[in-house]
Amino acid sequence: MLEDLLRQEIKEKGPLPQNRFMELALQHPLYGYYRAHEGVGQDFTTAPEISQMFGELLGLWALDYYEKLGRPQAITLVELGPGRGTLMADFLRAAKVSPSFLRALTLHLVEINPVLKQKQQQLVQYVAVEWHEKIEDIPLSSAPLIMIANEFFDALPTQCFVRQENILYERAVGLHEDALAFMLNPLRQDKGPNQMWEETPAAEAALQAIVERLLKQQGVFLCCDYGYEKGEGESLQALFEGKPSSPLVQIGRSDLTCHVNFGRLKEVALSKGLDVLGPLAQGKFLKNIGLDLRAETLKHNNPLKRASVEAAVVRLTHPRHMGELFKVMAVFSPPSLKPLGFEP
Ligand code: SAH
Repeated sequence: MLEDLLRQEIKEKGPLPQNRFMELALQHPLYGYYRAHEGVGQDFTTAPEISQMFGELLGLWALDYYEKLGRPQAITLVELGPGRGTLMADFLRAAKVSPSFLRALTLHLVEINPVLKQKQQQLVQYVAVEWHEKIEDIPLSSAPLIMIANEFFDALPTQCFVRQENILYERAVGLHEDALAFMLNPLRQDKGPNQMWEETPAAEAALQAIVERLLKQQGVFLCCDYGYEKGEGESLQALFEGKPSSPLVQIGRSDLTCHVNFGRLKEVALSKGLDVLGPLAQGKFLKNIGLDLRAETLKHNNPLKRASVEAAVVRLTHPRHMGELFKVMAVFSPPSLKPLGFEP
């Protein structure tokens, strides 16, 4: 179905730039992957799905920030792309240690997936919740913000450019002998070394919207995702039923992601005068905010879970698993309120 629509658009407009292809595949209102599929926990597993410790520790991290803010009466808590709601359920359960923090929270979830919204409804307890499709739709308030996102930016459409022999090309999806195929669309003459790189206007626009809110309301945004601070090349990957596949088959039924360019997001935030900490390796960040202590407590309280807790710590922190490719970055205002966890 979605493939027919893609073919139609290619016939009308020519090869589709990679970000337009991703936008249709992931966000088409009826057939896009993130409109119709649960994904999380099926095609891929994320840190909060690996262990309750991830959401719990972020809850305690946020509680520390609330204390730094001087315990305001109201806090706008935002999660972007909450998936099944697991992170937020663990976050709020941990936050119960401070009744005043819990009372201060109004929760806003930014989500385009109706299947996942239902799951979130079932899991998220203790606080008032509102859903929005866009960051800009979150009502403006005078309450400081605490915003979090785990594996949200990697799902946003990404462009890919190639410079070869002083000509700039954009990677696109077109038709070759009636089959969908990647091709390089020549754009213009462009002097410079032969090179391939990605750009993400959608991620930059999302960060821009976050930055504007932080400037108005103050607070912090914590971005957890896999990616790089500096780098070249391309990173588009597809997962179908948990296995790597071609982005050009099972369109709308497979997850497409790209690595997040943290360096670029950092530049956007710094250029607007916000402060940034990180990106720091996820393993280091989680240890900094108390992973080992939390793991010990869980093992002590439930000795039968010893092995699974230990396995989760390894998956979340080991460099061969999620420990280094996954990173955490904080954008915040005012500069004096440094969020916890970024000690090198
Ligand atoms: N944070 C969750 C889920 C990550 S998957 C976890 O860690 O388990 C990506 C999430 O972002 C899903 O909830 C998906 O539906 C949502 N999403 C993807 N693209 C989006 C967009 N453009 N706007 C809002 N939400 C989006």
